[in-house]
Parts: sequence; C-alpha cells; structure tokens
Amino acid sequence: MFYATWCGHCVAFSPTWKSLARDIKEWKPAVDLAAIDCADESNRKVCTNFGITGYPTLKFFPAFSSNESMGQQFSGSSRDVRGLRHYIIDKLEKQHEAWPPACPPLETASEAEIDNFFQTNNVKHLVLVFERKNSYVGREVTLDLLQYENIAVRRVLDTETSLVSRFGVTDFPSCYLYYSSRYICRMKVLSEARTFYSYALQRLPGVVRTGKHQTAITDPINNSTEEWRPFNKTSVYMSDLESALHYSLRVELSGHITISGDDLTALKKYIHVLAKYFPGRPSVKSALKIVDNWLQLQNGTEIRYSSLRDVLDNAVQTSDAVLPDGVQWVGCQGSQAQYRRYPCAVWKLFHVLTVQAKEIGSTDPQEVLQAMRGYVSSFFGCRPCAEHFESMALESMDHVTSLSAAVLWLWSRHNRVNNRLAGELSEDPDFPKIQWPSPELCPSCHGVKRTGEHHWNQEQVLTFLRNYFSSDHILMDYLQ
Ligand code: FAD
Repeated sequence: MFYATWCGHCVAFSPTWKSLARDIKEWKPAVDLAAIDCADESNRKVCTNFGITGYPTLKFFPAFSSNESMGQQFSGSSRDVRGLRHYIIDKLEKQHEAWPPACPPLETASEAEIDNFFQTNNVKHLVLVFERKNSYVGREVTLDLLQYENIAVRRVLDTETSLVSRFGVTDFPSCYLYYSSRYICRMKVLSEARTFYSYALQRLPGVVRTGKHQTAITDPINNSTEEWRPFNKTSVYMSDLESALHYSLRVELSGHITISGDDLTALKKYIHVLAKYFPGRPSVKSALKIVDNWLQLQNGTEIRYSSLRDVLDNAVQTSDAVLPDGVQWVGCQGSQAQYRRYPCAVWKLFHVLTVQAKEIGSTDPQEVLQAMRGYVSSFFGCRPCAEHFESMALESMDHVTSLSAAVLWLWSRHNRVNNRLAGELSEDPDFPKIQWPSPELCPSCHGVKRTGEHHWNQEQVLTFLRNYFSSDHILMDYLQ
C-alpha cells in the first residue's frame, strides 16, 4: 500500500489494511504486506519509480518479481478485508513463473491424489475441505495452516462426485480428517467457517507450529527446581494476582530509586485502583488501603522508593494487613521458566480490575484503563511492550465511555497483542497465543456473518468476561 500521511482516504483505509495484516498473519511465508508513506521525502524516489500518483494505491508483486517490476495495480471490486483476502488468493493462483516453494498447493485435489497422498507426503493429518467452486474457505484454511507441521489441507470440489459420494458428504463447506481410504471423519465445529476450521486444526494432536515443540503439560521441562502446580486452565487464581502485586510493588518498582512527576502520578493512580477494586483477601485489601492512604498524603513532587518499601514492609505487615512476600505462579506457570509468569499475571490483574470496576460501579469508565496505561508506561519492565501498549492507548483508549466498554477495550487490545505474538519466540508452545476466549471456552462469543466471516458477539463476550474474571470465580488454591 502506497499512502500519504495527509490523505484522508488513507487514514480511513488504514484500519482495513491493519486488520488484513492481522487476518492473514499466518500466511506470511507466502504473502507479505507492506505500507510505504509517500509523503515522507525519503520515500519520494521509491514512490516515483513505482509510478504512484494517487493514494492509497495498492499493488501486488508476484513471487520472483524483478527489481524493475512496477507491480500489478489492485483491480479487485471490494476493498474490505474479505475482498482483499480473496483478491490475494486469486493473484497467488495466477502465478505464471514457478510455484514459490513457500506457498502451499491451492488447487483442488483429485481422488487419485488423495488415495496416494500418504505414499508421497510425510504428514500425520490430511484435511479435506469439501466446498463449492466459488468458495475460498479451503484455500484460506490451507494458508492459515502454512506455518504448522504434520498437517496438510486440500480442497475438494462438490463436483468431485466419486469422493463426495464415497464419503457421504452432504454439506459444502465441510471439513474431514482423512487417514486412509477406510478411516475418515468429519470435524465437529461450532460453525462451518474458516476461523473455526483453522482454530480446530491448529490444535490437533501432533500439529505444532514450525520450529516449536510441545512438552507434555503434565511433565513440563522446567529449568527451575520449582514444583509444578496442577491447575485448571479455565480459571483465574488469586495466587497469580497476589504474585503480580508482590512483583510489581517489591521488584519492578524497586528499580526506581526516586519516583516523581508523571511516574508518581501513575503510581498513585495504580495503587488507588488496587485499593478500590482488588478483590483479594481482607488482609491484602487492608494492606493496599494503607499504602494508598500513605501515598495520597505524599504532597511533595518526589518520593523515594525506600520510603514506599518501608510502608510495604513495616506499616503494612500487621496481623490484619499483609502483602504476601514472594511469587507463586499457578495459572500463569509456563512450561519453562522463561515463559508466562509476571506479564501473564499483569494482564489477568487488569482484566479483573476492569470487571470489578464494572461490578462495583465506578463513576469513571477510564479509571482502571488509565491506571494501567500509567503503570505500564512508567514502570513495566518490558519497554517495547510498554511502547506498543501506549500506541494502542493513544489510538483509542480515550474513546471508552462506559465501564462495559472498558472491559471490552482491554479484552480486544489483549487479543491484538496475542495476534502479534502468535508464533514468536516468547510464545509458550504449551500455551499458544490465540484469539481468546476460544470457541470451546465460550461458544456463544463466536458467530459467523452471512459472508462466512467470523465475528465476535460482543454482548456474549462481555457476559463471559464478567463471569470469568469475577471475584466469585477466583480460585484460592495454593495461597501462602
Ligand atoms: P497472556 O497473553 O499473558 O495472557 C494471560 C492469560 O489471560 C491467558 O492465559 C488467558 O487466560 C487470558 N487471556 C488471553 N487473551 C485474553 C484476552 N484477549 N482477554 C482477556 N483475557 C485473555 N510481549 C511481547 O513479546 N511483546 C509485546 O509487545 C508485549 N506487550 C505486552 C503489553 C502488556 C500490557 C502486557 C501486560 C504484556 C505484554 N507482553 C508482550 C507479554 C505478553 O502479552 C504475554 O503476557 C506473555 O507472553 C505471556 O503470555 P501468556 O501465554 O501467559 O498469555
């Protein structure tokens, strides 16, 4: 996409381009998206060389394009995410040069290919998507699985009558797992649509992201000597939330000898929302109130961390006010020591706080989100994370005008982060980054539009989040 920062149409089109990039992230080895700002003087030559005279201009460069190639001007009829995705598939299929090795086969499969498939391919699962000629689902799912090992996807048309009748296929699209001519089974999904197929296939036994190898969850290879604490993957544990408190207040903040200016404001807001909404044990809530009261009385422009630490360690540790010392991850344990833990618990903490603010009835829909924004910006140790989070906050946090919208804003931004990090080195192979909650965890959160596109049923998502992160459902196991 060639665009100019000052062009209103480009600004309006930018969310579509970004959504498309998120939507086809898994296709990356075969398809790359880029954007170049022609208003930037340093790009003038490039834009001139490509003959760009208007914005936004979309061009497609087939694999093996020469450096002199001017690209093919977009000629599709629809510039929404679905239309662009289909346009890309059409273009991929028209590859005239040799088929690029990074691109999976997209053509339809014949009976002969399927019958001989396992003789020539070393994969565990063969997936057949039965569909009509004008459907893109099979090719989309093939590309969605491109970065996964042990699985191959082929589309079979309804006109392949011998296969259709042999397997008794009656619905188009529908998805089958084929293991031999005698063993084939239909995959059960919530809806016969791309997202549901891809999600389910990426989780089949033995299917792993290229380069990632799963460890058995009951026997994790843990670098540390810590004992594994069995936990229910679908629950929030108080032990994680208290561990996040300990780590943020006693470890992360301790890197700041003095705290002043915006950082001090951020700290006060953070502690204040904790004191108001942390749904903890009475002793922990009392402790947070003591710290909050102390901080609100600090009228100077600066505090020393050591003074805060004194409050945490001395004023707070009375018999009925305690901030547990040390961490004990439960639902945020990772299969290895470098995975999950603190950042996982930070997300959970703030989801819980947005939900608590909604339940208790805060008067300010921005209160928890701005406290999180301030804390992350001033103190969160992962600085690139803080920058990314701030750019999301800058873009839309101010538009949040209700407590429900605050819960949903954090959920949707967390999903954006999940999308960006899926497949990255930091992803724990035992806890893949998904668009959350999964169809298993919340079937009613997922829907399909008439076009076959996935959509979130936001009312159901809100109900789900209010239940999942509610104080009543937080498990108290393993508390010190
Ligand atoms: P997490 O993403 O930490 O999620 C924890 C739990 O929350 C999940 O197990 C699930 O139960 C639940 N959950 C998942 N998605 C949602 C959702 N959408 N809504 C509600 N609950 C959900 N890491 C980077 O490498 N780069 C970054 O830019 C980056 N930015 C970050 C920004 C912030 C503000 C935070 C707190 C963390 C950031 N991280 C970043 C860390 C990263 O997001 C993960 O926290 C970390 O990789 C641990 O991942 P996890 O598998 O435990 O799942």
